[in-house]
Amino acid sequence: MTSILIIYTGGTIGMVESEDQKTLVPFNLDYILSYVPELNKLDVKLDSYSFERPIDSSNIHPNHWTQIANVISDRYAEYDGFVILHGSDTLAFTASALSFMLEGLRKPVILTGSQLPIGMIRTDARENLITAVQIASQKLDEEPVVQEVAVYFEDMLYRGNRTKKLSTEAFEAFFSPNYPVLAQAGVSLNFNHAELWSTDKDDFRLIDGFNNQVVVLTLFPGISSELVRAVLSNKELKGIVLMTFGAGNGPTDKWFLDIIENAIARGLVIVNVTQCAMGQVEQGKYETSAGLLKAGVISGADMTFEAAITKLMFLFGQNEDPNWVKEQMVTNLRGELSIS
Ligand code: ASP
Repeated sequence: MTSILIIYTGGTIGMVESEDQKTLVPFNLDYILSYVPELNKLDVKLDSYSFERPIDSSNIHPNHWTQIANVISDRYAEYDGFVILHGSDTLAFTASALSFMLEGLRKPVILTGSQLPIGMIRTDARENLITAVQIASQKLDEEPVVQEVAVYFEDMLYRGNRTKKLSTEAFEAFFSPNYPVLAQAGVSLNFNHAELWSTDKDDFRLIDGFNNQVVVLTLFPGISSELVRAVLSNKELKGIVLMTFGAGNGPTDKWFLDIIENAIARGLVIVNVTQCAMGQVEQGKYETSAGLLKAGVISGADMTFEAAITKLMFLFGQNEDPNWVKEQMVTNLRGELSIS
């Protein structure tokens, strides 16, 4: 019988009202499971693991990624798949981080959550949870259909490190701006087999360690030279995700390009990611990105911000050599990046 481990971290899916009825706070996994007796009807052996104190995902920290990845790694041989219940706010970051940590993954790791708590009448939690378990248990010729970290939300399965939270309101809370949907759940589950990830590594291995000496610098018209200089001159800083305009563009002011150039000369890694919701960075296409390219800023291509920042933290956690980090940043490690 197929066996699936449900890992509960917290999030709206299991939240209840606080004592003063003013806020939503995470509750326990048994409470969630009591609302989905249908899970017992699936031909699947279900076990569960819960964070001792479930959290709102806005409190997620790399230590939690380590905890989740260790649970999966320790029980990797025991289960056919894993379903992670997670708050939607930072779910795309956790999905990205786990994708980098779980090298050579050949089993499904499906993250899901919900926009309304499972106890509410119009909740989206029940369907999300049941279908996530079904997707995690799908096999073809004895092999799991999904062999990567993916996100299931409101009828759609997305590659984890390609997702972004789209809406605070709609049940369709996520989207995958630059990569096709992996599966769609209608009357049947329709997988987009050609787009599913398949690893070229022989063995499964957990790679742990994140370095959080990184920062995001979002450009806007009128950004101050003093503040850009203050951020980039920090002695602890190792990497920056530079959120640029359009296809990777920024101001051509001398002060700006000088600060960038000096930072790179000091060994900082600067990754160019677009502020646009869709599309990719093409440094050199416009004059306004040629200076960044010349200064040694590397292209984040079509990576999401969530994938770029977690990848940067992950890579610096393995090796602090900026040249190695730059080389890996532009390498497609887990399907997070389209190499054109
Ligand atoms: N604040 C919640 C969380 O991310 C939102 C959600 O779960 O949808 O934990």
